Order: sequence, then structure tokens, then C-alpha cells
Amino acid sequence: MAGYREHISVSGLCGAGYGIAATLLFGFTPEQGLLAAILCWMSGMLPDIDSQTGKPVQKIFGILAAIVPMMMMERFREITENREQIILLAICTYTAVRYGLSHILGRLSIHRGMFHSIPALFIAAELVMLVYRSDDLAVKGLMGAAVALGFLSHLLLDELYSVQFTGTRLKLNKAAGSALKFVGKSYYPNIFTYTVLMFLTYVSLVQFGVIEGPEKMPHSFRQAVESLPMRK
Ligand SMILES: [Zn+2]
Repeated sequence: MAGYREHISVSGLCGAGYGIAATLLFGFTPEQGLLAAILCWMSGMLPDIDSQTGKPVQKIFGILAAIVPMMMMERFREITENREQIILLAICTYTAVRYGLSHILGRLSIHRGMFHSIPALFIAAELVMLVYRSDDLAVKGLMGAAVALGFLSHLLLDELYSVQFTGTRLKLNKAAGSALKFVGKSYYPNIFTYTVLMFLTYVSLVQFGVIEGPEKMPHSFRQAVESLPMRK
């Protein structure tokens, strides 16, 4: 399995290329390109978030805990205009991600379970796309795709490291094929992952106007979907 350093180097390179291409070829602003590059870079660490072993994971949670409140700032401002309340909300979010989420994930997951999978890649990308506030759908797409790219670079690298050349023969170690998977070995994590994925995909498609919103849904559900940060 590739190490922490390899992962951030590769996803960093991908992010740099992605950010530059977004700015120079697709007309996004340099700031948007840079932010997308950073998101891609950090997403290269994301799949290892469930690994039990110490330092890199602690780093990931440290970074994630700092970034989530920053990305949610505008959302906090919509909830309240009181500055102290906004700061308190940011502190709560930081603590929840840094300690709460890491504790829950530590208890729930086996390393290289469903976090190293294609559906997890889509979940991460869709989450960022939905949480990121912008009136421009293209910008949301840019950020989501950045996360997907960084995540994919991690899975590909893990997969590459599971192939070893031994002299003339190509040897697959026992981790081969486990990174780029669609389903895991255990039953419940699969169901959970796909339920989350289907829900997020549905909300994303509604908000991008690809499919019709929940017209016939109960009022409260419709309100909940519409209140998600994507709606203008
Ligand atoms: Zn990994």
C-alpha cells in the first residue's frame, strides 16, 4: 500500500494540473482553480481516514476539521447574524469533526473497507458539491470533480502498489483489487454506503435540474431538500 507521502505527492500533482487547466482552459478564476487544486490535493488522503494507525489519520482529521467550518461559514451566516454565535458554531463543527467523527469512524470501520471504493469516491464528491455554496453550478461541479480526482488518485496508487514485479513475473499481493472496488466483503457497510450514495445522488440530480424535484413528496421532506445549500 502506498504511504501517506506518496498519496499527497500524487494528489498534489493532480490538483496542480487540474487547477491550472480549470483556470487556463475552462475560464474559472485563479482563486477557484487554486481552491479546486487544494481540495484535490487533500482528497488524496481521504480514503485512509478509516485507518486505525496513528499519525497520518490524525493529520487528515486535523485538516478536515479546519476546512469544514471554513466551507460552512456562509451557511452559518444564514443561520444567525450574531458574530459570537457564528464563532461558536464553527468551534462546535471543528470539535465534532476532529473528535466526534474520528471516534465514530475509528469504531465503525475496518481499514480499506468501504472507504476505499468507487461509491465512497462519489459520496465524497457529491457531499462537497452539495455543501459548497455558489450560484454557479459549474463552480460546484468543479469542486466536486476535484475531490473525485484526488480520491481516484489515491485508489489508483493503492492499486498500483499491490502489483509487484518479482524479476520477470508480475505478482499480485493480497490487497490487489481491493482499492478500486464497488462492493466490500461485509453486508451492512455495503447497504449503508449505497443508501447514502443513492440519497446524495438523488439530491444532486434534483439540484442540478436533471430530474424533477419531489413534487408529490411530503411537504416537510420537500422543504428539507430545498433548504439544502445548493438552492439559489
Ligand atoms: Zn489507501
